[in-house]
Amino acid sequence: MSYTPKYADQIRCPNCRSHCIACGTGLAQMYDFCTKCLKLWERIPVGEHFTIDGEMMSFHLPCDNCAFRGKSAERMDPERWNELQLSLAYGAGAFYCHKGVPLDVRNAEPGGALEFEFPKKRKTVDIAGACHPYQTYDRERMRMCRGYLNKHIKPMMASSSECHAARAHD
Ligand SMILES: [Zn+2]
Repeated sequence: MSYTPKYADQIRCPNCRSHCIACGTGLAQMYDFCTKCLKLWERIPVGEHFTIDGEMMSFHLPCDNCAFRGKSAERMDPERWNELQLSLAYGAGAFYCHKGVPLDVRNAEPGGALEFEFPKKRKTVDIAGACHPYQTYDRERMRMCRGYLNKHIKPMMASSSECHAARAHD
């Protein structure tokens, strides 16, 4: 893999906040990586922003490898697609974009899939008077997936406003 140094660019490393970012080229996906902490992540698409006013806003368009695109690897695998739909219906309730999320390269099995290191925060819960710390996803620092919003939330909003308009005419 070759790379072009990209120091002092518009974004910081999502892991250590350094500006020492290089861009990998010559691979199927465009990756940026941090020369300080050695984390790697899929590059933010051209024309989109890492954050807007400090907020992880959804992109304008679905990503090139978004799970919700027509012929995504997830859609082409019926079992995987069904599992994703079930997890949205019964558990997660939302889907987050993986662009700019560090990949856990160090703990990956050779040839195995890389895990995304979505940001987490520490919380505590009181159980029988004792304080127990635990880790949970920090959704304020995660970007909602544009493909998910287009496929799941937009139709819901449209039917809700149709119902509202129909009731207004009653
Ligand atoms: Zn870093």
